[in-house]
Amino acid sequence: VYPKLDQRSVMDIDLVDATPETTIKYLLQPGQRTVFFYNAHCANLRATDVGYSQSLARADQILPDGIGIDLAARMQGDELTANLNGTDLLPPLLTAAARQGKSVFLFGARPGTAEMAARHLATRIPGLRIAGTLDGYEGAQDADTAIDTINTSDADILLVAMGVPLQELWLDRYGPKLLPDLRMAVGGLFDFWAG
Ligand code: UDP
Repeated sequence: VYPKLDQRSVMDIDLVDATPETTIKYLLQPGQRTVFFYNAHCANLRATDVGYSQSLARADQILPDGIGIDLAARMQGDELTANLNGTDLLPPLLTAAARQGKSVFLFGARPGTAEMAARHLATRIPGLRIAGTLDGYEGAQDADTAIDTINTSDADILLVAMGVPLQELWLDRYGPKLLPDLRMAVGGLFDFWAG
């Protein structure tokens, strides 16, 4: 049991300071959690966008993403255990999820992209259950329909890919209505997976 993930304050925000293995085990435990990635662009935006800043303050875990955050940590005399960027973290996370029989819902990106990303994941990660997909344009406009589709899919994990800060604001606003245990904002990952 992992009661709490170690954190380290970098540029005045608490980031997860743990190995990918520990982080994945923690995130897949039962219980609802909202998880965001945090890179240099996020740090700039946090300084000017109050809504985004508030959504970060309410997130359960914030994961250090990219070299800019590593450098910022080093400049304050610290070193983070690992860079937990989504490109590297999500494949092993979803592999562990598949082993546990957990299902994933992909919400976001342009029409067709989430489906292509899901097909790519299903091939790459045998046994991964895809609960459903929904694009992030129509879906972003009609929140009730998106929430209903996600909840009736019975997904354990919800990945939202609508870009920073739309995806964080969406999860912050509608989180209380959502049923999946793990909710993660994953930026451009669906585009990346769709190829
Ligand atoms: N996107 C979306 N709805 C929008 C705007 C953007 O679903 O209203 C998607 C877009 O298609 C892309 C992702 O959000 O798949 C943003 O990717 P980007 O790499 O720009 O995000 P970042 O990781 O930089 O936040």
